[in-house]
Amino acid sequence: MARSTAARQIASSPEAAPAPDLSGATPMMAQYIEIKAANPDCLLFYRMGDFYELFFADAETASRALGIVLTKRGKHGGADIPMCGVPVERADDYLSRLIALGHRVAVCEQTEDPAEAKRRGPKSVVRREVVRLVTPGTITEDRLLDPARANLLLAIGRRKLSETAHAYGLAAVDISTGRFSLSEVSGQELSGAISRHDPREIVLSEALHADPALARVWQETRAAIVPLPQGELEPAAAERRIREQYGVSTLEGFGQFSRAEIAAAGAALLYIARTQLAARPPLQVPTREAGGATLSIDAATRANLELTRTLSGERQGSLLDAIDRTVTANGARLLAEHLAGPLTDLAAIARRQEAVARLAEEPCLRGTLRDTLARAPDIARALSRTGLGRAGPRDLAAIRDGLDVAAALGARLGAEPDLPDALARLARRLARIDADLVETLRAALADELPLNRRDGNFVRAGYHPEIDEARALGQDSRKVIAALQARYAEETGCRTLRIKHNNMLGYFIEVPQSVGEACLKGLMQDFVHRQTMVDAMRFTSVELGELESKISGASDRVLALESAVFEDLAGRVLAGAEAIAETAEALARLDVAASHAELAVELDWRRPVVDDSLSFAVTAGRHPVVEAALRRQGEAFIANDCDLSGDTRGRIRLITGPNMGGKSTFLRQNALIAVLAQIGSFVPAAEARIGRVDRLFSRVGAADDLARGHSTFMVEMVETAAILNQATRRSLVILDEIGRGTATFDGLSIAWACLEHLHESNACRALFATHFHELTALGQRLARLDNATLKVAEHRGEVVFLHEVVPGVAERSYGLQVARLAGLPAAVVARAGAILKGLEKAEHDRPGRPRIDDLPLFAALAPPPPPPEPEPADDALGLLLDAIDPDALTPREALDALYRLKRARAEA
Ligand code: ATP
Repeated sequence: MARSTAARQIASSPEAAPAPDLSGATPMMAQYIEIKAANPDCLLFYRMGDFYELFFADAETASRALGIVLTKRGKHGGADIPMCGVPVERADDYLSRLIALGHRVAVCEQTEDPAEAKRRGPKSVVRREVVRLVTPGTITEDRLLDPARANLLLAIGRRKLSETAHAYGLAAVDISTGRFSLSEVSGQELSGAISRHDPREIVLSEALHADPALARVWQETRAAIVPLPQGELEPAAAERRIREQYGVSTLEGFGQFSRAEIAAAGAALLYIARTQLAARPPLQVPTREAGGATLSIDAATRANLELTRTLSGERQGSLLDAIDRTVTANGARLLAEHLAGPLTDLAAIARRQEAVARLAEEPCLRGTLRDTLARAPDIARALSRTGLGRAGPRDLAAIRDGLDVAAALGARLGAEPDLPDALARLARRLARIDADLVETLRAALADELPLNRRDGNFVRAGYHPEIDEARALGQDSRKVIAALQARYAEETGCRTLRIKHNNMLGYFIEVPQSVGEACLKGLMQDFVHRQTMVDAMRFTSVELGELESKISGASDRVLALESAVFEDLAGRVLAGAEAIAETAEALARLDVAASHAELAVELDWRRPVVDDSLSFAVTAGRHPVVEAALRRQGEAFIANDCDLSGDTRGRIRLITGPNMGGKSTFLRQNALIAVLAQIGSFVPAAEARIGRVDRLFSRVGAADDLARGHSTFMVEMVETAAILNQATRRSLVILDEIGRGTATFDGLSIAWACLEHLHESNACRALFATHFHELTALGQRLARLDNATLKVAEHRGEVVFLHEVVPGVAERSYGLQVARLAGLPAAVVARAGAILKGLEKAEHDRPGRPRIDDLPLFAALAPPPPPPEPEPADDALGLLLDAIDPDALTPREALDALYRLKRARAEA
């Protein structure tokens, strides 16, 4: 169920608390309060040593959200100051949990050495600054990101087309990879476009957010919503921001953008600047998506078809999960993107298919490519972190290895003769890597790398002579310390004397208390006493002090030199950022093509013909997710044909059949086959010819949406209205059980009228499943409507579902049999059976009741007849007897049944 709007907007409870005043605050608390006041809508992570501390209302919110202990630190305004903290090393875990809950976090670091602060005076506080705001749509750390999912920030702008109509500009930015795309959609398409992008965070103007006409759109999204004041989103400022981001004086070189798109891009860049502060992510030049380039799928259809996640929000069980054979995170993200926006351009679809076909034909080539791809790290995200100054040595190594893999793939693929266009292009792109950069990274980076650059020791020995020298000095000094320890032990006669190190004292001499009085006396004379512990005494000496400054000087120097090497390498990487991003894209494309090929071979999927006709002919089609589930249980899926191509007959198929017969499965599988065909994949069918679909609509099942204030029936009608208003001749429409959420005759009338409208006005290809068997009579009246049903067999009173779609009309729905299979109490089933008999008898006996075949078409529908009298109920004993199926009983159940009968008889 959707979370409420309040919860989905960035949770910002702390700002509600009145800002504590500074009077009487300690200097540190005064600093905290000032920084917090500047970031009221974020939880403030305030760095203190090895912890990020939270205070006041932030502490209460975080301790509740993270389940961490709430403590106190001093008093302010006479009251205790609530406090809680998270260790810096584990901060990412806590951050990801807070972000998932919709919070924003301001990370405040110490920006000077504490020693520096001390020099300014005993009471001065270490300088601290917020270095970054962490928000759901602007995260870049691997540990906070889902590798297989893009992390999009979506900004929305608007321009007026007429008094009543607007166009909406969408800027979709993934800072974790630098991807940036712009598009414009109509008001009708807005919700579908948002659901396609599936953003983590949406930025828009306060006016857009408050527009009542769009309230439903914002309610529908799962993203966090950030409304910004209109004054900050002026069009001139938007354009300036884009120019500044890319260092250009005009936007013309990027193509033509609408005012709404520019407004959206400007809002995205403003928000990114605000959250990233000093850092500027290396965003790619925005690409513009032409309107109609992708198959339009509205939010309800997307959810119903469970394309990238199931109705309960899981990836597992979705179409994406069933078809994903990618071996890189980059590839997995691209596949999800393709599935969210199938193509409508036939040439582009054909190019993808060509690549898949070639890789499917050549198992050896495919195997090698996939094995090599599997070694490719996520260079897109590593590159982005490098641009933001957040990279570690492992990110640089990832880029080295990724480029290396790309070169190997380029060479392998490039050696193949007669490559189809798409693969040839990929081969060229992959081969074109900066070999010098790879060599430099290889020479510079050590084999074992730390996560953070501040840990040092990541530059390979031999790369930088000064680093080698300083390291040697550090190592020599350690040898000298060892020698000194041996000498002191000798001189003092204390064999247990050790020279140790800690952060507080630096190097010190330590002897256990057990050395004895005489020895201690000698030590006191020769050395300076520093500490007495329970079981040890600590000393220092002038010689040791000198040695220490030499050693720490050497390690500081190594760190500084390594840091300079890091900057140099990062600079080289960024100089080639555009080319590296293209390589990342090529790797992802190859991975997706190979994934489709692998799947096609594994599951015997076939290449569909996708053309400009209005055909829809699928032979032996299967549902990829249901088939996989059945396979796991060792059961077979029954393949079915579906032909909606006919101009004269069969553009609309009306499907009746028993409950559990497989109607919904059949409907969905055909919609999924269209989607798969248009992403360039092969399809689960023996053969398929799909005339390009422009819009896909599905209304499947009944779903309450109480969070949005809609009843089951209202949701059903809103979605049906969207279909009837928007479906074109090119569209594919899947309607399942329309009109089930209301009274029988209301529902039947609506379903009837919808079918007529689809047939006459929309004239689209459609599958329409229903339990209103009366509708099948329309097959005789509507020229392009055919009836189909799902076959069942009856065996000794049991219904057997054959899941086979055949021409014709269902006799009945077998609802009672299914109810019994579902475990409805036997007495209820028996009672329902008796009532059904009564209803059927009443209908049969009442010749005056209008039969649907005899009804004048809809407009003249006769008033409904009075409800038939139910047949008088049988006696209790009879009911119980009716409910017993001797063949289905175990001996124990038979005995129980006998006792029940006897009891009923006694009670009668
Ligand atoms: P209802 O009218 O009750 O909604 P339905 O006719 O829409 O039922 P489905 O939900 O499509 O039926 O299918 C019910 C079950 O039957 C599925 O979960 C699946 O396990 C099985 N099934 C459906 N189609 C097939 C098929 N072609 N081959 C094998 N099993 C199938």
